[in-house]
Amino acid sequence: MEELLERLLEECRPFTGKGRVADYIPELAKGDPDALGIYVIGSEGKHAWAGDCRRPFTIQSVVKPILLLQALLDNGAEFVTRRVGVEATGKPFDAINAGDQALDSGNINPMVNMGAIVMCSLIYGRSYDERFQRLLELTRRLAGDGEIGVDEAVYRSEKSHGSKNRALAYLLKFHGLLEDDVEEVLDCYFRACSIQADCRALAHIGAVLSNRGRLPASNERVFPAAMSRYVNAVLMTCGMYDGSGEFALRVGVPAKSGVGGGIMAVVPTRMGIGIFGPALDRKGNSVAGIRLLERLSQELYLSIF
Ligand code: GLU
Repeated sequence: MEELLERLLEECRPFTGKGRVADYIPELAKGDPDALGIYVIGSEGKHAWAGDCRRPFTIQSVVKPILLLQALLDNGAEFVTRRVGVEATGKPFDAINAGDQALDSGNINPMVNMGAIVMCSLIYGRSYDERFQRLLELTRRLAGDGEIGVDEAVYRSEKSHGSKNRALAYLLKFHGLLEDDVEEVLDCYFRACSIQADCRALAHIGAVLSNRGRLPASNERVFPAAMSRYVNAVLMTCGMYDGSGEFALRVGVPAKSGVGGGIMAVVPTRMGIGIFGPALDRKGNSVAGIRLLERLSQELYLSIF
C-alpha cells in the first residue's frame, strides 16, 4: 500500500500547480501551495501514508460532518433534518441560499455555511464555550488524537474577516432559523473551522465513518450505525461543495473538503482517507488531492457505484 501511495503521490504532485491557496482571510494565504500528503487507515486497522501527511492545517469545512454528528447525537435525526435540511444546493458553500422572500431549511444542508451555523446552535451546552468544548472533545475522539486544538491565528483571522458569514447568520436569524445571539453562534463556528488537524486525523475520522461509528483499533462505538449512514449520504451529495456531482463520477465515495486543503474521504466498510493539498480549484477543493483520490479509486476499485 505504501508503495502505491508514494507512486500515486509523485504522479499527482504536478497538479498542485493548477490550484491556488485560499486567500479570503490573510492567515490562510500563508499556506504552502506545493504541499501534498495522504494517509490511509484500513478497516483492519492498518495505517499507510505518503508525502506531507503530518503537516498541521486547519480543518475548515471538514468540521461540518463532525458538527452534524454532534447535532445528531444531541437532537436525533428527525429534529436535525427539520432544522438543517439535506438537499444539495448546487451553489458555493457561502452562498446566500435565500430566494427573494423566503429562506427555510429546505434551502440549506449541513455542508454549507448556513447549515453549519445553524448546527452550532443545536449543540447542547449551557454556554457557547461548553458547546465548543463538546465539539472539540468529539473531534479528538473521532480523530484518535487527544492533543487536537485550535489554531489561534486562523481563528482571529476568521473572526476579523467574517463579514460574509455574519451576513449569512443575520439572514438565518431574520428568517427564524437561528434563535441565539449571532456573535456567540459565529464565534463557535469560527473556532470550529480553526481546529487544527493533519492527514492522519482526517483518515481516522473517515475510518470511524467507514466502520459504521466504531473506532478502528478498539472497535469501541462512538455513534450509532444509523448516524454514519446519515452523514455519509449527506457527504456523498453535498460534501465537495458544488463539485459533489463531478467528484461522485471521478472518485465515487463520500468525502468532505475544506479550504485549508484537507479532504476526509470515507470508503464504507473499507477505509478512511485523509488528504492535504492546499492548492484549490475555483470551488474550494484541493486540485491535486482530488486527482490523488481519483487515481487511488481507480487502482483499488473504491467507487461505491
Ligand atoms: N471558515 C470558512 C468559511 O466559513 C470555511 C470554508 C470552507 O472550508 O469551506 O468561510
